[in-house]
Amino acid sequence: MAKIDLEAIIKRYDLENISIATLASHSSLQIFHGARAEGLNTVAIVERSRLEFYRSFTRLINDFIVVDRWSDLCSESVVEKLRELNSIIVPHGSLVEYVGSECAESLGVPIFGLRSLYRVEASQRLKMDLLKRGKIPVPRSFSGRDLDDIDTLVIVKLPGAKGGRGYFLSRDPAEIRLRLKRLIDEGVISSTDDALIQEYVVGVTAYFHYFYSPILDRLEILGCDIRYESNVDGLKRLPNKYIEEIEPTFTVIGNIPMVLRESLLLKVYDYGMRFVNETKRSLPPGIIGPFCLESIVRDNGDIVVFEFSGRIVAGTNLYIDGSPYSWLYWDEPMSVGRRIAREIKMARDRRLIKKILT
Ligand code: AMP
Repeated sequence: MAKIDLEAIIKRYDLENISIATLASHSSLQIFHGARAEGLNTVAIVERSRLEFYRSFTRLINDFIVVDRWSDLCSESVVEKLRELNSIIVPHGSLVEYVGSECAESLGVPIFGLRSLYRVEASQRLKMDLLKRGKIPVPRSFSGRDLDDIDTLVIVKLPGAKGGRGYFLSRDPAEIRLRLKRLIDEGVISSTDDALIQEYVVGVTAYFHYFYSPILDRLEILGCDIRYESNVDGLKRLPNKYIEEIEPTFTVIGNIPMVLRESLLLKVYDYGMRFVNETKRSLPPGIIGPFCLESIVRDNGDIVVFEFSGRIVAGTNLYIDGSPYSWLYWDEPMSVGRRIAREIKMARDRRLIKKILT
């Protein structure tokens, strides 16, 4: 992987005219809206087929870079144009998915966030390892070798399964063995170790939106949502006798706002801090800006984290005008998109821009 000389790139930037650039997808409208609210220039990297739609938000986007394929982001001409506009890339959930981790990791434009996390995020196992090292409670897990120890309902997760497609639930080692063998025969996985087998935690799903500010050295809880997933969240509408016939699936359809019992916030904050500290320890300089811990809250108040995202999540689109929590920190309508722009401005004004870019 080519090493990026970030310092040299930033040296040539006119920091008084920074642009916030992102792929036109996922949470880009929120990111543009926040950047404009902070008076920054915005650049949409957009696939031709989406141009008309994004153009209709005339207020939000100053410059368009039109590409035929998303992977053109890493082409010399696009990189050059981005640098000319003094761009800082704000990553979101579609970045690695659309351009691939190699392009995202080697992109010759400064990124607001922790690039080295992309490699960890690409592997469910590495992700769980990071959470465990950080002493964040995670579900019990089983490997292909200890299937016979399974004494509870488990969720079997397949690598790269978008929206949980192909996941299945079972409590029977023989059934799991058989289904994994079938998946190996079909070429979906190459060995049982490719599947992540986790205890299925019963409780309420809750996704915590955090923002870690390297400039203020402060962790902020900026919101919380529930992902509404099809068909698992629809099953409760059926009488019990029909539910057994249906295999649950976990495709995210939308997000529902949530406020937490205040007594839970202390634990949510603590686990967020553990994540910040673990990324500082194992992936210096550590997390920069937004991230999300994805959890189940049990009936005794225990929080079990089964996943994380090291960047802005789509659930924050609920709070473009600020969330109940962001008002407590800022007393103004502060979305995560706007918070990103605010952090970039604070870093620039305090001559600490390198602290927030990788
Ligand atoms: P993931 O691909 O890990 O984000 O999981 C997709 C969905 O499956 C989640 O949003 C949850 O609804 C559900 N899920 C994942 N892991 C667990 C677990 N260990 N226990 C209960 N539900 C889970």
